[in-house]
Amino acid sequence: MSFNGVFTWLALTHRKSSFSDLRRSDTVPDSAQKFNELLARVTQLEAERNLTLRLAQTDSLTGLVNRGAFTASLYERLDAAATDSAQVSLFVIDLDRFKHLNDTLGHHAGDLFLAEVGERLRGDARPHELVARLGGDEFALISSGPGAADRARRLVELLAQPHLIYGRQISPGASVGVAVYPDDAAEAGDLQRFADMALYSAKMQGGRRWSAFDAELRDENRRRRTLEDELRRAIPAGEIEPWFQPVVDAKNGQIVSVEVLARWRHPEQGLLLPGAFVPMAEELGLIGRIDEAVFAAGCQSAAAWVEAGLIESVAFNVSPHDLLDPAFSRKLIGRLAQTALPATALTVEITETFLLQDLALSRRHIERLNAKGVHIALDDFGTGYSNLRALMHLPIQTVKLDRSLICDVAKDGRVAKLVASMLHAAHALGVRIVAEGVEDEAQAIILRAAGCERMQGYWFARPMPADQMETALRASHAAAPSTFIQEPRRRYAYS
Ligand code: C2E
Ligand code: CA
Ligand code: CA
Repeated sequence: MSFNGVFTWLALTHRKSSFSDLRRSDTVPDSAQKFNELLARVTQLEAERNLTLRLAQTDSLTGLVNRGAFTASLYERLDAAATDSAQVSLFVIDLDRFKHLNDTLGHHAGDLFLAEVGERLRGDARPHELVARLGGDEFALISSGPGAADRARRLVELLAQPHLIYGRQISPGASVGVAVYPDDAAEAGDLQRFADMALYSAKMQGGRRWSAFDAELRDENRRRRTLEDELRRAIPAGEIEPWFQPVVDAKNGQIVSVEVLARWRHPEQGLLLPGAFVPMAEELGLIGRIDEAVFAAGCQSAAAWVEAGLIESVAFNVSPHDLLDPAFSRKLIGRLAQTALPATALTVEITETFLLQDLALSRRHIERLNAKGVHIALDDFGTGYSNLRALMHLPIQTVKLDRSLICDVAKDGRVAKLVASMLHAAHALGVRIVAEGVEDEAQAIILRAAGCERMQGYWFARPMPADQMETALRASHAAAPSTFIQEPRRRYAYS
């Protein structure tokens, strides 16, 4: 029964002793007192309910409406605009360099700044406009009527004014993307997506500016939509293939293991690299199926090479999205059991982003996999902030030094020193290091001198399909161990 319903029911059951009757009588009858108590309780409950409703719709930091309430309102406003043939503009606003501010001044300053931005937006909004905080450093505004370009320009100017936080003047600025109903999109979901695309375009142009959804973005959207449909079809059609890149032993240049990398053999566009489809697959929730397909096919080849003594182990990449599934490790162990690959020959490469999102869940997955003999490698090490924390607190067997560090190792003495001390620290913790993206001899020599035991990169071999990998493995195995630096490409031929 709703609160209004309760009121009606109470009023009906107490028709005989109305409020005026109660006031007139000297002694309050029992039932009337009960009625009063109930009335007070209902009033209190209703006030609480209103507060809860308001809180559920409000962002606690800024007091603006939150994403849920904002989206609901967008739908309502578009419905109303359809009836009145009116125009509605959606602006999405993203602060520039907010992460930098948070990292340098701390989270508390970051919060103060977000609250201040909220206040500014609210103060500037016209009566019919709705301002919201969508989450993080993302805000949005709905406005009706013409003049979207002027409004967007004003928003950029407003947020470019300096702010005073802890007595310091800061002006990170903001970027704005705008899409207009009904010109750009006829529906709220599309309008949001198009405003986001426009925002992305503003960011790509350096930020502190606004962009509208335009013909170029419309074409891009169409191309993307087609690619999405094709990707859904590609997985069952077997167009996702495992490719393999060797990892060599720094002492003698022999291939000791391989990393499996996904490739999409697109019927018209040819071979596509993960950059062209992995982020999209993550957004569409398809990455799990891609990882499964790569795993099943990759294990088949790798199991045969392990069995033949050509490699010790094989490494697969898993998406941070998969790792957030509490059943991930159990499912992976189940799938592994269906292949001929021994668990001890499997390495799972995970990125630090995931580890830090949920340390307890990461630990559970890692321990479950470790218990079966599966190794864990921390991928892209040296790109984030808290790598060392993850490394110290989790049972990780291997660390992959990121290409961004390796590419400077021969150019910048400080990077060489940093890498040497990272190698030292990892060894002290009993963790093995693989240097990724080794592209020339100079890098390889420095890394080997610093004690790096495993390397991977174009200097040794690019990723290749299974048949070529097998040939390279056999060649590597047949060749007498030597110093790997001598023209490694001639030994590990690839096309
Ligand atoms: P990653 O795990 O860091 O993989 C290494 C990437 O560096 C690969 O790019 C590899 O081709 C490239 N690389 C290796 N050596 C060199 C070098 O010497 N120089 C340069 N410039 N690049 C080198 P790729 O294959 O394009 O993969 C990119 C990323 O896509 C991977 O980065 C990984 O994060 C992701 N990925 C690849 N396969 C899968 C997969 O099956 N599942 C998931 N979830 N992600 C995958
Ligand atoms: Ca990797
Ligand atoms: Ca990597």
